[in-house]
Order: sequence, then C-alpha cells, then structure tokens
Amino acid sequence: MLRLLLLVPTTTYRTEDFVQAAAKLDVDLVVASERPNVLSERLPDNLLTLDFADPEKAAREMVAFARRHPFDAVVPVDDRTTVVGAAIANALGLPSNSVAAMSATRNKYEMRRVLSEAGVPSPPYVLFTLCDDPALAARRVPYPCVLKPTILAASRGVIRANNEGEFVTAFRRIEGILRGAEVRALGAGSDQILVESFIPGKEVALEGLLVKGVLRVLALFDKPDPLDGPFFEETIYVTPSRLPADTQTAIAEVTAWAARALGLREGPVHAELRVNETGPWVIEIAARSIGGLCSRALRFGTGLTLEELILRHALGIEIETLERERRPAGVMMIPIPQSGVLEEVRGLPAAKAVPGIEEITMTIHLGQEVVPLPEGSRYLGFIFARAEMPERVEAALREAHRRLDFGIAPCEKAS
Ligand code: ADP
Repeated sequence: MLRLLLLVPTTTYRTEDFVQAAAKLDVDLVVASERPNVLSERLPDNLLTLDFADPEKAAREMVAFARRHPFDAVVPVDDRTTVVGAAIANALGLPSNSVAAMSATRNKYEMRRVLSEAGVPSPPYVLFTLCDDPALAARRVPYPCVLKPTILAASRGVIRANNEGEFVTAFRRIEGILRGAEVRALGAGSDQILVESFIPGKEVALEGLLVKGVLRVLALFDKPDPLDGPFFEETIYVTPSRLPADTQTAIAEVTAWAARALGLREGPVHAELRVNETGPWVIEIAARSIGGLCSRALRFGTGLTLEELILRHALGIEIETLERERRPAGVMMIPIPQSGVLEEVRGLPAAKAVPGIEEITMTIHLGQEVVPLPEGSRYLGFIFARAEMPERVEAALREAHRRLDFGIAPCEKAS
C-alpha cells in the first residue's frame, strides 16, 4: 500500500477535503500537524506532531520515521507547510520543488525580486521595513501604489494609497498588524512592508498543476468584482473565464514563465494576475492549490476533486484527465462587512433556494468574533454555484448573497 504524508497547518480549512481524497485512494495516510492531536497516542504511526517552523529538524525526524514506514509522497496543505514539505520530500528523495523555490514564493519581496530579474511582467516595487520613516518613504514611491506585508496571505494588510497622506496612514495601519504577537511569531520578514505600483486591469486566478516543469492549466477564474482598493477583498470567482482565448493563452504563458523563474517544477500552483492593454501581469504565484473551500467549485473528468488530483499526481497514480468538467462553476467568499460578534445569519434557506446555488457553507460560527480586511484574514463562509453559463453562475452567487443578512453586534472590548 502506498503511504502518504499530509502536512496540515492548524489554520487550514482543507483537512477534511484532503483526508476524504486520501480515503478514496486507499493509501496509508499519515497526518502531521503542529500540535499533538488527542488521538496521537493511540495512532502514533498515523498522527504525528512536527515543528513546521523548523524544516531541517522536521526533515530529520521524517527521515528517521521513514526508515520504518517509507513514504511515497509528501503533500503540504496550504502556504504554511510548503517549505517544510519541500525539505522533507527532498530529504526523502521524493519528487518536489526545491526548498529555495518554495521559500521564494513565501515572501512577496523575494518573489518580486526573482520575477523582475527574469523579466516576468510584475509590478515595480520598493521594500521598506518598520524602521523606515513613513513620511520619507512616501516621497520615494510612485502613485497610485499598493502597500503590503511580505509574509501574510489572503489580502491581509494589502492597502492601496493614491497620495503621500494615504501612504502614511496605510503604512501605520500595516505596522499595527505586523506588531501583533501572532505575526511577529512568524519571524523573518515580519517587519517588512513592500510597496508596488498599482497595476490597473481585470483580475483572474489561475489554478494549475506543474508536472515535470510543465504547467497544466486546471482552471482559469474571472473575478468579476472590481478590485480597485483601498482594500482587496476576494469575492466572486467564476470559471471558465470569459476573456478572449488569446488573452487566456497569454495568461497561461506568463504564469508558466513565473513558475520557471522561481524554479517551481512539481505540484499545484495558484496564481493571481491582472490583465490590461499591455498584457498579463503577475500579482502573485503560490506553490499550493486555491485557498479556503474554493476548490469545491472544481471537478475534473468524471468527478475527481482537486485534492484527489493533487494526491494522485504526488503519488504517481494515473490521472485519466486534467480537464475540468464542462459546466461553468463559481464560488463567492462571503466578505465580513463589519467587525463584531456574529450573532445571527438570516436568509439562508432563501439563499440556498436560488437556482444554480449548490451549497452555502458558513465557516464562522455564531458567537465568534469577526474582523474585516485589512486586519482580518477570514471569510464568513462560501457560496457555490453551477449553471449553463458563467453569467448565470455569477448572477446566482450575487442573488444568494443579496438574500443573506448577517447580524453582527459590536464587540465589547475591555479597556
Ligand atoms: P495576498 O497573498 O495576501 O492575497 P496579494 O499580493 O496577492 O496578497 O494581493 C492581494 C490582492 O491585492 C490582489 O489579488 C490584487 O487584487 C491586489 N493587489 C496586490 N498587489 C497589487 C498591485 N501591485 N496592483 C494592483 N492590485 C494589487
């Protein structure tokens, strides 16, 4: 029986989808997480605890473990485990990206540096740290620009500034996020603020799989809501894209170029690009699959999930086809409208009744605190739709969202 090591960060939404995918493949699944699980003692060979922040140590431990129980593949789930996943896979001699390539995708400044050196269309940038004086920094950048932390994700702390005044305000706001204990614990890069030229244009997300250095496009999503700032909340994703075929080809080519420049060769990639009259620009490319629960919008061939596809590729099991099913599909990440405590979700049955809506999953429970962007990093939930036309998918998602109403009470903060 094949044995698979799945690296699961505590913050992921996706454990269940990956575990289900593994169950369908009939593999011996070993799950490693950062904190001991209540069942770890009873299942010492299947539930491991690993320090993801120390890739070398984790790799040594897994090499020792693999002497008794050899692995056939290592699959990192989400950004936080990509570097440690590469370290373990390399130490075990399994196909994987290099640690250097994975590390470059984990820091937005490193990524920009590598992409611009390779000539990949990517925004001009300047790096600052919290030691810099924002008023002086504000004079050194072009406008409009986008300020962002280098090591966070999900648009957290990403803010547009149109002038020096807005720049200083945005800088201070990001500083507040970076000074939080949980961000400082992330270590290297937690004091950096990257500033990029704002690239206007339509935004798309490309979901791909690298197989021996060749990019296979699994899905191209349009993001029909304008993302012009000041914050960049993800909302609707719809596939297939309605962009012209030659634009879609150019997007795939630029993404493949970016992956090559970074040295990525195997496994999933998720890229965000903007397209304008000069062509596609890479905003970001990550060596992981699409985040949140969004992968549930995708099915391949005769119904394979994205997670099954990723596991099959990693284990070297045959994949009949990488073709997405023909039916247009989409997902809406439900944004958090205001901060407070989620007390009530109204209109769920009416929203689910919208033709085309397949599922609505709330990921924040009643009684939990919610924080909108730019400080927050979560969504209220996910709405999924399928229909005969991308336009109908988009309309169904909008209508379902319109029917939902969230009761959010202000937080009583202790002073
Ligand atoms: P994260 O990894 O946190 O999502 P990104 O760098 O991908 O951070 O930025 C999040 C979003 O902010 C992007 O999807 C895009 O809409 C917007 N954005 C980021 N950088 C730029 C830029 N230079 N020009 C225009 N929009 C940008």
